[in-house]
Amino acid sequence: MTDLHRLSIRELAEGLSQAKFSSRELTEHYLKRIAKIDPLVKSYVTITPEQALAEADAADAALKAGNVTALTGIPLAHKDIFCTKGIKTTAGSKILDNFISPYDATVVEKTKAAGLVTLGKVNMDEFAMGSTSESSYVGATSNPWALDHVPGGSSGGSAAAVAADLAPFATGTDTGGSIRQPASFCGLTGLKPTYGRVSRFGIIAYASSLDQAGPMARSAEDCAYLMNVIAGHDAKDSTSVKKEVDDYVANLNNTSVKGLRIGIPKQYFNVAGLDADVKTRVEESLKKLEEMGATLVEIDLNMTEAYVPTYYLIAPAEASSNLSRYDGVRYGYRCENPADLMDLYKRSRSEGFGPEVQRRILIGTYALSAGYYDAYYVKAQKVRRLIQQDFLKAFENVDVIAAPSAPTTAYKIGANLSPTEMYLGDIYTLAVNLAGLPAINAPVGFDKDSLPIGLQLIGNYWSESQLLSIVHQYQQNTDFHTQRAAIAEENA
Ligand code: GLN
Repeated sequence: MTDLHRLSIRELAEGLSQAKFSSRELTEHYLKRIAKIDPLVKSYVTITPEQALAEADAADAALKAGNVTALTGIPLAHKDIFCTKGIKTTAGSKILDNFISPYDATVVEKTKAAGLVTLGKVNMDEFAMGSTSESSYVGATSNPWALDHVPGGSSGGSAAAVAADLAPFATGTDTGGSIRQPASFCGLTGLKPTYGRVSRFGIIAYASSLDQAGPMARSAEDCAYLMNVIAGHDAKDSTSVKKEVDDYVANLNNTSVKGLRIGIPKQYFNVAGLDADVKTRVEESLKKLEEMGATLVEIDLNMTEAYVPTYYLIAPAEASSNLSRYDGVRYGYRCENPADLMDLYKRSRSEGFGPEVQRRILIGTYALSAGYYDAYYVKAQKVRRLIQQDFLKAFENVDVIAAPSAPTTAYKIGANLSPTEMYLGDIYTLAVNLAGLPAINAPVGFDKDSLPIGLQLIGNYWSESQLLSIVHQYQQNTDFHTQRAAIAEENA
């Protein structure tokens, strides 16, 4: 079979359970595609063929014995921020270049327990700080839709791998947009769950009060399958929430678009830098939802201007604390011939961290320092609360809130945006993390250069089923999510 990579997760599950193909055949099919096509896309940091084939054989045995889950034998890729026992986990940083975790992240443990087959680890911005995946120490990943463009970030490897059909779906993490923005840039569906829905245990920490893992795939249905595996309380993560997990697949048709109230924030559609094609495609998608029975309601989100400054204080502050553990002593990169302990710390960190990570450590340390703590960090926390209240007030009147996922389509590789230009590109995604809310990206068309554009729907707490269901129904009525980049059409 040459077109296994064109099947949806549901079709893959059916094919495996009806023995139309084996997990080994499917896994070999993907490994062949990776070997042929990934040298152009560069989405994988580490490919694990031996382990993948062993897992595939175990899955085939389980399939024969009838001892299966819904996803037994289906391959996936993990962002290189999830700790994987025995396989290198770099978080895109030279400082972790030689790091092999002694344990699996809970998300990885869960995908293994579900019988999923790990193809490898995919590229990302260093420590998930960035919006292009260019800050990875192994170099840039290409956007499958235009190889001289970035796939977005920080989960750019996950997005590129799925968009080039080098994995049927992938895990990502989202601290300020890192699932939704690369999904938008690569024409995929990506869900950032409510803070606390998915365990953070074993995910290399960036900003712990904002980090959350989620699925990236072609469709809402495919995302729902992965959410069914990774969601849930975990005693090893004190911020994970003890709350029953929905059956996201069974709920895909449970939310009626008819009568749905979609909030359109006035402030969001007047943002300077919002690309005209992005605006038009997003508005067309909202019109489509209106045709399907939704009501569009103009709302106010008055704190919009505060999103970027608030996030870019809180996230670096938490990062500066989280990254203090990389000191060249216990694990990771260590400088050559240190003169003394201070030299060891200084040089290991200066040589091991890239420039964007160093910038954030400096900003964060400054914001947390005794003289500035109240003026910056405490103030940012207060504004964070106001941003959350702004959303809660809006949800009294609407069911979900619509926005673009990003103001532009994918940038060119090497565009060399200034830090502030890059930070402003996160305007639509940051507030969701500051408030801890769930949000989803859905592909809704292309710009004049044929680059994908995404619609973001933001839901109230624990509304993952609702978001997936709305996008699922939208995808039953449109075909943007089934369109493939030319490189994905290539056969291995
Ligand atoms: N671009 C944002 C940042 O650099 C968000 C990244 C993320 O979600 N990990 O912080």
